[in-house]
Amino acid sequence: MKSYFDCVIIGSGIAGMTAAIYLKRANLNILLLEKDAPGGQMNKSSEIENYPGFSSITGPDLAVQIFEQITKLEVPYRYGNVHKIVCENDRYHIETDMENIETKNIILATGRSPKRLELPNEMKLVGRGISWCAFCDGSLFKGKNVAVIGGGNSALEEALYLSRICASVTLIHRRDTFRADSILQDKVLKQSNIDIIYNAQVTELKEMDGKLASIVVNDTNEIPVSGCFIYIGHQPNSEYLIDSPVILDHGYVIVDNHMRTNLEGIYACGDLIKKEIYQLSTAVGEGTTAAMEIIKKMS
Ligand code: NAP
Repeated sequence: MKSYFDCVIIGSGIAGMTAAIYLKRANLNILLLEKDAPGGQMNKSSEIENYPGFSSITGPDLAVQIFEQITKLEVPYRYGNVHKIVCENDRYHIETDMENIETKNIILATGRSPKRLELPNEMKLVGRGISWCAFCDGSLFKGKNVAVIGGGNSALEEALYLSRICASVTLIHRRDTFRADSILQDKVLKQSNIDIIYNAQVTELKEMDGKLASIVVNDTNEIPVSGCFIYIGHQPNSEYLIDSPVILDHGYVIVDNHMRTNLEGIYACGDLIKKEIYQLSTAVGEGTTAAMEIIKKMS
């Protein structure tokens, strides 16, 4: 089956959904494509306290509220894992595992995914102690001892979340200062069941009976934990662009101030692009900018 659209938005995180809201309200013939649940990385945030309009909201709740807006507007929404984008006769052809889609414009909004420690046992122990989502898996470790790896906003936010469920949280950071916002650092330092180990790297994940039993830090210090939550940054979800002419820098899409890539008709926004600030609020602005550019062009 082949279908044609004015614009296809690939990815339904906050950037993609924002672009869809603007484009649909401008009455363009659009399609929102997603290979997972709507919401992207929002679904992995336990608590959001810096998104205007909500003094505190969980990531999944915010994702649901935005998706309800998408549904009310009757934005066409389909499952599709994009493998390839090909340009032919002034139109783009998007190949997914389900279909071929033709479109005049594309907004790339596929975001990024959490990085791994790249240690032996890591993938084997997923769902058996290793996790990248405290909000999804934290309750499995109620009353137990867990570790959180990283020193950014995600690590500190999720360490705080876990400290309310688990007996203890050991926060392990590779330097002696955190890069997280100072408001979060203050909260973490005040939390009595969060222990911090600075200047430390996890060097081994030990298992017993198929489950995580302990982690080894700096090759010597073995800490018994039932869970280990990894928050050491992200990598862009841009594999499908590697063989395309879209210019990437370390996998991030290069855009100008109008969210235009180097290819006419292809825009990008949100965590997929190379930029300084990776926030929900900045992703919303970029989704808006990309959509407005297309609206101007099509009118
Ligand atoms: P991040 O800011 O990139 O922090 C990653 C942390 O992991 C850093 O502390 C880094 O250490 C450490 N790290 C990196 N590679 C490592 C490795 N191989 N082994 C051990 N540690 C490693 O990532 P993030 O916390 O996921 O945040 C991503 C972006 O989203 C940021 O811009 C952040 O501000 C934003 N964010 C915002 C909020 C919020 O505003 N509420 C919440 C979550 C995320 P170094 O510090 O030594 O580099």
